[in-house]
Amino acid sequence: MYFIDTHTHIDMLKKLTPEEAVARSESEGVKYIINVGSSLQGSRKSVEFAGKFSNVFASVGVHPHYVRNFGNKEIEILESLLRSNPDTTDKNNRKRNAKVVAVGETGFDFYRNLSPGTDMVKSFRAQIELALKYDVPVIIHDRDAHSQTLEVIKKYTGNSNFRAVIHCFSGDTNFAMQCLDLGLYISFTGVITFPNAKSVLETVEKVPIERLFIETDAPFLAPQIVRGKENYPGYVRYVAEKIAEIKNLSIEEVADITSKNAEKFFSLNQS
Ligand SMILES: [Zn+2]
Repeated sequence: MYFIDTHTHIDMLKKLTPEEAVARSESEGVKYIINVGSSLQGSRKSVEFAGKFSNVFASVGVHPHYVRNFGNKEIEILESLLRSNPDTTDKNNRKRNAKVVAVGETGFDFYRNLSPGTDMVKSFRAQIELALKYDVPVIIHDRDAHSQTLEVIKKYTGNSNFRAVIHCFSGDTNFAMQCLDLGLYISFTGVITFPNAKSVLETVEKVPIERLFIETDAPFLAPQIVRGKENYPGYVRYVAEKIAEIKNLSIEEVADITSKNAEKFFSLNQS
């Protein structure tokens, strides 16, 4: 049995070094970690870790918090990261770094509203288009922006290269069903272990396990049982445990199925 933390930021950990975080996660049964870029600096770090640790993969992107004045220059930097140390050729003969497995996180955050909405839309579309160009999936951040997220996504769902996951899913079951109908995947964090997580639990129950991923979003959102501690990828097992409890499955089943889902979606076994 092993787990995959499909969304984490080990570059933001304060208590553990990246080396310690990776080693401890491995001893907790975490086979792969996807380190997700939320800024240009974070994206560079993700690619650096993917080069350094055999079990770490990278996603490159800029979080909606940081997209004020996002434009061509930022896309060029993300593209250069996708193409760094190229060792894979995609079906369009485009070379990229095989360990950069996604673009994101990108999307909308109307909870904190740190960037103008127009910049969020523009950067979201540009990052989706970059993902399509390199045939990699998109990791979507959606906070208080379900209808706006759907509006953008619907422009791309006709494209056969378009694959996306809504990370740290916070919507209700109705929104989850709309996302599933559009072919998206849904990823849950330690939020599902919080005492006030009633509505998201119903969503966990309804979403088929074949369409789910697990993640920590560390260093944020430590699961309830380790609340107050710094979150890290080793705690992803608590997310799996909660899903097992809700869906009446064994933790082994949840680990196996969610790991297979993630390996396939992010093409983790090809590099
Ligand atoms: Zn994140």
